[in-house]
Amino acid sequence: MTTGKYDVVVIGAGVAGLYASYILASMGWRVALVESKPAGRIGDRVCGDAIGIHHFEELELKVPDYTIDHRYRGVKIYSPSRRHSIVVPGEGVSINRLKFGQWLLKQSLDKGVTLLDQHVVVDIVMGDNYLKAIKVKKVGGGLYEIEAHAFIDASGYRPAVRSKLPPEWPISEKPYVTDYNIAYREIVKVNRTVDSGEVHYALIFLDLEVAPGGYWWLFPKNSEGSVVNVGLGVINNGLYNPRMQYDKYLRPLFNGVVLHAGGGVVPTRRPLPTLVWRNVASVGDAAYTVNPVHGGGIGSSMLSSHIVAKYLSNALESGVLNEYSLWGANIDYNQAYGAKQASLDILRMYMQKLSNSDYEWIMENRIVDGAMVYDLGTKGDLAEKIIHGVSTLIKLLGRPSLLNELRLVRSYMNKARELYTSKYPKSPSEIYTWMKSVDALYSEFAERIGFERGSLVKW
Ligand SMILES: Cc1cc2nc3c(=O)[nH]c(=O)nc-3n(C[C@H](O)[C@H](O)[C@H](O)COP(=O)(O)OP(=O)(O)OC[C@H]3O[C@@H](n4cnc5c(N)ncnc54)[C@H](O)[C@@H]3O)c2cc1C
Repeated sequence: MTTGKYDVVVIGAGVAGLYASYILASMGWRVALVESKPAGRIGDRVCGDAIGIHHFEELELKVPDYTIDHRYRGVKIYSPSRRHSIVVPGEGVSINRLKFGQWLLKQSLDKGVTLLDQHVVVDIVMGDNYLKAIKVKKVGGGLYEIEAHAFIDASGYRPAVRSKLPPEWPISEKPYVTDYNIAYREIVKVNRTVDSGEVHYALIFLDLEVAPGGYWWLFPKNSEGSVVNVGLGVINNGLYNPRMQYDKYLRPLFNGVVLHAGGGVVPTRRPLPTLVWRNVASVGDAAYTVNPVHGGGIGSSMLSSHIVAKYLSNALESGVLNEYSLWGANIDYNQAYGAKQASLDILRMYMQKLSNSDYEWIMENRIVDGAMVYDLGTKGDLAEKIIHGVSTLIKLLGRPSLLNELRLVRSYMNKARELYTSKYPKSPSEIYTWMKSVDALYSEFAERIGFERGSLVKW
């Protein structure tokens, strides 16, 4: 059986899919949103729940207060010994993921989106070099096909559509296993509340014994500090289990009533080579739009949806729907966020090679301050000031290898950014050559710092 044809079918009702559906339906397109969960669970997700409010401001999204659990003045980062800390200024919030998702869903439904909840995408149907339909299975029901002019894969880190597209389509690129962090977190009503001086900060702890290749976090969820979101992420190299790390190191510190618990996977890498190909687009975690260093992906996934929806609408309007008419989405996304991600992906690999004593030394000697970390986070720049700071200290304390490494990291971060801006293909026909240069750059860097990327993910 095939259903009536839609203009756009969006796969996945996470923040990325919900937002893309909402924008496209607001522009008058017939949109179907396909989601495996029941409608009432849309939004429910394992997450740290923290987001800088600049993301909402940039999208001009007026988020209602009832979806916000708590507000932050900034992020506080602790050294492994917890003797040193840096405060990164910037307003943020802890959102209630379920309420936020339900609110976004209501916006979409109000604009006329057709929700097909409890529908699992199990396969795709190819036409002649385009995606003709998706095959879905209704929970407790039968299998059928849904056709559309265009499809948006917003199905998260394990993309339901992109993974089944022809391998020669660059949008189907597979990640390396170490491009993922794996995480576990709980929301706990704690017996011992968070100190009043800390309750207005999202707290990050750099401690590789607790979180190898990542960090652990404590994000208060109310002003009393009695409910917290606590968790950790580790590199996905097959050596560590985040749940076991949590049980060993964090559970004893956060006794109380567990309100929500679960594990998750975060793609911490540069974005997909292209967000669009033929009549298919990809957004959010499915397109690797997460910040590679801090793992935040709510804001950037919505940003990718906003950009893709705009180009898709124009292409549908013009009647020419392919990678050429959609290409501007890549240029805009890279300009707004992707180039920063590409640069931070280099830093991420380097940081995953650092030790607790490196972090301790960097923070003890005040090599970086909050403003520098803020710049690094917002622009992806490893400031000359940091290199200068290290070079001055090196003379006093002697860590020449660190200085050389930082210079190397900086030069590769700049090259990566360049590849995603001035050197990004002006036309889709150049993408294959460009992808080779990208792979060469990251492989070369990995080799120079001795970073094992592991194998490609098997889907
Ligand atoms: C532990 C953890 C902590 C995090 N902390 C933060 C944080 O503090 N701040 C932040 O900004 N980001 C954080 N992130 C990242 C953030 O949660 C994600 O980047 C963001 O939610 C991605 O949204 P999405 O819509 O792209 O994907 P998802 O939220 O994964 O949505 C995908 C949707 O697709 C559906 N789906 C999947 N497969 C199918 C299928 N075959 N058929 C039908 N439906 C399907 C799923 O059910 C899901 O609803 C964290 C992630 C994790 C795992």
